[in-house]
Parts: sequence; structure tokens; C-alpha cells
Amino acid sequence: LIQMFIPLNFMGVIYRQIKQSLTDIERLFTLLDVPQEIKDKPTARPLELKGGEVRFVNVHFGYDPDRQILHGVDFTVPAGHNVAIVGASGAGKSTLSRLLFRFYDVTSGEILIDGQDIRDVTQASLRAAIGIVPQDTVLFNSSIYFNIAYGRPTATREEVIEAARAAHILSFIESLPKGWETTVGERGLKLSGGEKQRVAIARTLLKNPQILIFDEATSALDTQTEKNIQFELKEISRNRSTITIAHRLSTIIDVDEILVMERGQIVERGNHRSLLAHQGVYAELWAMQQEARDH
Ligand code: ATP
Repeated sequence: LIQMFIPLNFMGVIYRQIKQSLTDIERLFTLLDVPQEIKDKPTARPLELKGGEVRFVNVHFGYDPDRQILHGVDFTVPAGHNVAIVGASGAGKSTLSRLLFRFYDVTSGEILIDGQDIRDVTQASLRAAIGIVPQDTVLFNSSIYFNIAYGRPTATREEVIEAARAAHILSFIESLPKGWETTVGERGLKLSGGEKQRVAIARTLLKNPQILIFDEATSALDTQTEKNIQFELKEISRNRSTITIAHRLSTIIDVDEILVMERGQIVERGNHRSLLAHQGVYAELWAMQQEARDH
């Protein structure tokens, strides 16, 4: 019994860690064969994607019934637009993306994609529509080829190479003695933060989702790498509905709308200029980050 219990328990731990770290996990569910907490309705249909509009309507949510985290969150990401979410640690930013990916169901309110409540569609179709570039990309102890191709396992070798080229990691891969067959991950070559993000970008390019979530890393990369990654992210977010969870305000100056969260509510919204003019929470955050940068 103990022998059976340990691996199951271990799987549970892995599952929770992955869920928490917002990895692109739809395939891991099948790899790990872990029962899903959220079930498809018997009447669930595949999501019918039009432009990829995302709407949160008066969303309330708590991980535990006695501790509500989100208190009536309302926003829309029009198809193809770019919305950023900022706010202090614990404000509820990542929770929004976990709900959109339907790791959990809302307590009340609804989340709609192209007008369809995400509880009414199949999870497979929902997760196929959303790509995530997480804060910290999980690499499998396998070849770098596998790690990128995993974005769309049916992709051809040419497509995988093309995605690596577009994510600006192809020349790095080709410079390795074992090239595409190099083992990466814990037991292989350790990649830098920037290289891992590029693997995530290449995966996402292969997946080609209509909706994108960028969970910006809290630890800054060096300035040049950061600039390059920003450029690549901008490229792949073109014509896709994009939600950026941002920690550095300098990376989101030109998004369509910025939502400022505090304790589970949106307290300010607007573009960078209008929020600065408003002289509220955002303007204060901006001033603090400018000051930190100048010192
Ligand atoms: P950060 O910028 O630090 O990533 P955040 O704004 O993304 O923060 P969330 O991760 O959304 O914050 O967390 C919001 C609140 O929900 C926090 O108080 C956190 O403790 C709580 N929380 C997050 N995950 C869980 C969980 N799995 N179970 C219970 N509470 C959780």
C-alpha cells in the first residue's frame, strides 16, 4: 500500500507545483495521468474561436471558500488587443490566468471567450486556444528538440526549426556540440533564464494560439536579453489577444490597456499616459520603479 501511495502522492505534488507555476500543462495531464479536478460538462462543445475576445464579467473567486481572493473583476481583452495587469505581489494577477486556463472555476460571475462561457466548452479546446509563456519554463530532461516540439507534437522538423529561428534560439542550438539532440533540464545542460524563455516562446509559436498569456519573470534578465525578449514577445503577440502579467512597468508602456490590481480588485485602468496623468496607484508605482532604476 505504501508503495502505491508514495508515487500517487508524489504525482499530486508535481501536479500542484505545475498548476501553481502556470506551466503549459494540458499535455502534462495526459503524461502524468492525473485525474483532473475540473470536469467537462456532458454537453461541453469545442470552443468556437472567432477573434479570441476574452471577457471577465464580475468574477469572484477564492481558492478556499472562507478566503475570497477576487472581488468582482470586470475587463475585456478585445480580439487581437494587448492588456497588461500590474499590482503588488498577492493582488491576484496570476489567479486571473489560472481561471482563464480553467484550473479552477469562478465562484460567481463568468469568463467568456468569443461570447462562450469557458465552463460550457471542452477543456482540450480551451487549452488549445491559449498559450502561456510562464515566469519559469519547465524543461523536460530530454533533447532540446523534444522540449520545443512539445508545443505541437505533430509539427514537422522544418516547423520546429522555423519556430526556433523566430524565437532567436536556433543559432544557440546549432552551436552546441550535440545540436538539437542536446539533453537539457535538471540532468542535462542548464539553460539561462533568457534561453529558457526563448524555448517557451518557440513552443508557443509552434502551438500558434489565438490567446496569449505572458507571465513576466520577477527576476530581471540582463538589459540586452530583456530587450530582445521583449521584442520577440511583441512579434508573437501581434494579432493575438494578449494578457501580460507585468512586474516591470517599463515593458508595458505601449499596451492598449493597463489594469491595476489591489487586493483582488481592479482599482485603476487606462493606458500608460492616462494612468500617469491620473496620479494614483499606477503613477506611484511608476515613480518608485523609476527611482529604483536611477539608483
Ligand atoms: P505575484 O506578483 O507575487 O505573483 P499575484 O498578484 O500573481 O502575485 P496570486 O498568485 O494571484 O497573486 O495570489 C493571490 C492570492 O491568492 C495570494 O494571497 C495567494 O496567497 C493566494 N493563493 C495563490 N495560490 C493559492 C492556492 N493554490 N491556494 C490558496 N491560496 C492561493
